[in-house]
Amino acid sequence: MKKLVCAGEILVEIMAERIGQSFLAPGPLIGPFPSGAPAIFIDQAARLGQPAGLIAAVGDDDFGHLNIERLRADGADISAIKVHRGAATGTAFVTYETDGSRHFVYNIKQSAAGLIEIGVEARALLAGADHFHVMGTSLFSPEVIEVARIGIETVKARGGTVSFDPNIRKEMLDLPGLRDALHFVLSKTDVFLPSGPELFIFAGATDEESAVREMLDRGISAVVIKKGAQGAVHYDKTGRTASPGFVVDEIDPTGAGDCFAAAFVSFWLRGEVPEKALRIANGCGALAVTRKGPMEGIASLAAVEAFLATARTGTP
Ligand code: ADP
Repeated sequence: MKKLVCAGEILVEIMAERIGQSFLAPGPLIGPFPSGAPAIFIDQAARLGQPAGLIAAVGDDDFGHLNIERLRADGADISAIKVHRGAATGTAFVTYETDGSRHFVYNIKQSAAGLIEIGVEARALLAGADHFHVMGTSLFSPEVIEVARIGIETVKARGGTVSFDPNIRKEMLDLPGLRDALHFVLSKTDVFLPSGPELFIFAGATDEESAVREMLDRGISAVVIKKGAQGAVHYDKTGRTASPGFVVDEIDPTGAGDCFAAAFVSFWLRGEVPEKALRIANGCGALAVTRKGPMEGIASLAAVEAFLATARTGTP
């Protein structure tokens, strides 16, 4: 089976217990939960039985070891996760506002995550990789951009493929080097996985079909647009396939997009038709939102199949 690799931040998430709870005053917290978009992605792929490894850096502390142990237990290749003495694992504190939006306090850039590099172990992992996945949120410094560039070029030189989930807000585009990096990544992308409006950050057109056409004309093989509870839509040169989301109680949306992307890419790498890859991906995304904590809703293939056997779809 093809092996996929991702590089980027590992962190823990600590959550305010009550909706609307402010961080301007002390209050009850829950966690730590393992997190970091690349870690979520790799963990979900591994749980689906896909060979998957992560290039990352953590501190030699409980938060770092919590993440490494979760990834190891779930079957991910952790050989290229470096443990740094004297640096702390990153944190994200999150509180949910009453309107459903989230407010984060992050410490990522200054954490061990910023020490990521391509060392001997990362080179060995990339030497056996067939696919590299890039996340826009992971491109937060020139150093991590360089790691992504090496990952992409190494895998492409082996005849492998690249997927890209921009996961980006317009305000982030002013970070040094980010705009150029995004355009470089897009120029190497085979599977592009934007969430709804993110498509228009990269396209000149203002309607979905024309914007997708621009992406396909650049040589991207598949464009998969994530649409939250509505599911997802897939486009390639042969046409459009819409697949509805599944009805669940949303408890915590963090991580759904990464679980969806991991599942879609895993089944795309297995050569499955878009209908099947989308159905499994929508199942993983739906299960992801049913638990507090970004990785707590990650399901094994058997658990997703059991869910899909009885799940009800919403409207696409
Ligand atoms: P992102 O987190 O990247 O913004 P989305 O919010 O679109 O991505 O979620 C990714 C996928 O997770 C969706 O395409 C869908 O399959 C699933 N999903 C997300 N939210 C829900 C929900 N409330 N109910 C069911 N499925 C959901």
